[in-house]
Amino acid sequence: MKTPNQSPPSGLSRKEIKATAQMKKIMAGHFYELDKAMKSGHPKIAWCTSVGPAELLRAMGFLVYFPENHGAMLGATRISTDFIPVANSIGYSPEICSYLTSDVGAYLKKQTPLSKAYPGIDSIPRPDVLVYNTNQCRDVQDWFAFYSREFKAPLIGIQTHRGVGEVTSAHIRSVAEQMKSLIPNLEKVSGKRYDEKEMRLVLSLSKECSILWKKVLETAAALPSPLSFFDGTIHMGPAVVMRGTQEAVDYYKLLLAELEERARNKESAVEGERFRLYWDGMPIWGKLRPLSELFSTLKTSVVASTYCNSWIFDAFSAEGGSASGGNLDPFNSMARAYIELFIVRSDERKEKYIEEMITKFKIDGIIFHDSKSCSNNTNSRYGMPQRLQERLGIPYIVISGDLNDLRCYSEEQTRTAIEAFVEQLGSRRPYPPDVTSGGR
Ligand code: SF4
Repeated sequence: MKTPNQSPPSGLSRKEIKATAQMKKIMAGHFYELDKAMKSGHPKIAWCTSVGPAELLRAMGFLVYFPENHGAMLGATRISTDFIPVANSIGYSPEICSYLTSDVGAYLKKQTPLSKAYPGIDSIPRPDVLVYNTNQCRDVQDWFAFYSREFKAPLIGIQTHRGVGEVTSAHIRSVAEQMKSLIPNLEKVSGKRYDEKEMRLVLSLSKECSILWKKVLETAAALPSPLSFFDGTIHMGPAVVMRGTQEAVDYYKLLLAELEERARNKESAVEGERFRLYWDGMPIWGKLRPLSELFSTLKTSVVASTYCNSWIFDAFSAEGGSASGGNLDPFNSMARAYIELFIVRSDERKEKYIEEMITKFKIDGIIFHDSKSCSNNTNSRYGMPQRLQERLGIPYIVISGDLNDLRCYSEEQTRTAIEAFVEQLGSRRPYPPDVTSGGR
């Protein structure tokens, strides 16, 4: 997902966000805490998928490590392509998730970008237990299974329905029950009893983090936008790996205050903003900087994305949620939040969601990233761009690339395609957009 140690892309005429220094500090604290726990054997370490049940793990006293975050670091530091072939050589196909293949390859080569970012850290933290949720894809289960065999640590998880239209009480009951059934295994590893009070506390911190992160992203609805997608990919770090902690809450209060001030002063992320785009699909981690600079040159701001929005969990509730009018239960609220995510839903729901984003963020066009090794987070392969264009008149472009495997990405072709797309937008409307007509 996101990398904590890269410098923010310094797009032309873009201003640095001051809160970045604080974010780097707390992310460093996160990794040093994990490293210390591994070396001392306390507290225990749980690996978790990026939209897995992190709240339960924290409530049970684990420190939580997210391998997808490490995958994104490998991508952003542009070393993934050194490692992907290593994983391919032991049978992990070039067609599957390149987070998985870069991460497994780096492990086999005994390398990690953590060492360079955080002196004294020599390796990824060894897991005491690995916990997945297939709500995003099946690759995470296979990824964790590799490490479960390597470290001889238990692998447990949740199977979530995919392509979900309406979220029903049957969906919620199924996932909530699976989450509860993890508890005995987790108690065995952590040596700590499940405590509902602790669970409600962590959930309320996660909820607060989520609300603040949503407000941060919504500052981009201002004209001009004080925040871009590229900033979002940097600043989402704490929402991914530290949700459920006070540090993450404090950080987003700081960031939000800065962005609200920027919006009041009409300070834009992209100087002279003329167009506003929506990014669908995975980031291209190794190309954030050149893409950010390209859009700045074109005076075009990528103001919103499904990717950054994926760590907004509206349904979290410390009081709990109800599956079908019964007692309030924190597991129901967690189950709902982790099923309602964009990546879990049917195309019809996804299209409705994108339509709302187009209006809210006054979007002129959509970029669909067709990510070679992640079909799960690629939405351009079954006619969605065409349907949205037909129904809403919204122009789109599909760019081919990959989250980590830069051999699948042509910088020249992408640049030419984006320049032509923005030029085409230029003939559509003056700036600022007419917000009374659905934002375009
Ligand atoms: S959603 Fe895509 S990028 Fe994320 S772990 Fe699954 S296959 Fe990899």
